[in-house]
Amino acid sequence: MERINWMEFRDWVPAKINTVLLPLGTLEAHGVTANGTDIIAPVAMAREIAPRVNAMIAPAVPYGFTGILDAYPGSFTVSEDVYRAYVRAVMVGLAKNKFRNIILLNGHGGGQTAILSALAQEVGRETGTRILAVNWWSYCSDVTLEVFGEDGGHAGNTETGYMLAIDPDLVQRKRYSGPEMATAIPAPNTWSAYPFPSSILLYKEGQGYPKFDPAKAKIYFRKVNDKIARLIQDTIKKWDMAGL
Ligand SMILES: [Zn+2]
Repeated sequence: MERINWMEFRDWVPAKINTVLLPLGTLEAHGVTANGTDIIAPVAMAREIAPRVNAMIAPAVPYGFTGILDAYPGSFTVSEDVYRAYVRAVMVGLAKNKFRNIILLNGHGGGQTAILSALAQEVGRETGTRILAVNWWSYCSDVTLEVFGEDGGHAGNTETGYMLAIDPDLVQRKRYSGPEMATAIPAPNTWSAYPFPSSILLYKEGQGYPKFDPAKAKIYFRKVNDKIARLIQDTIKKWDMAGL
């Protein structure tokens, strides 16, 4: 969107393109992978799938609602009310610019997923647009299982795999000292800590450590993107079929 002029935009939206992909991330510690993983991953994903779903890509919203890891160096958080209001304004702006389908490609978990899912409903209702919010690492947990043979983790096999496929320089393997760098996400009501003691968080105890396998990373990247593209295509098709 930022690379075209207003006349091109007017000619293309909504006549030729009525879907927009909005990547949303945050700056947060990610073990030995880049702090901007949650920004870089959905931006790469958007570039990969936009042609397949005939979509334009909106500039990313890079600062987010981080949470328990924001004490680590280079991490940021925006307060929930400010984040919610800002993202809402971005979404309303996309609707005003005549996109019919707004696809939120979210790169960050925690409280951000709940905010985006609530905003999808609120802004969709208010503007008459159709909005899909996707959290790729959860939605593709079956792909993680298939490719790596086990469950995933924050800054574990899922994100280091995806980032390794984008650019090997984003993953600093020599900084990885082993499993002691990771902590399993506690079961509900067992314990919580701020700051969280590790920036690699395993979804299941004993699984999901970073893998550093470039061949598997490539396969993972492709399969994740394929699954997200299919979800977007199916959702738009069903919206159309239902006449929404
Ligand atoms: Zn992340």
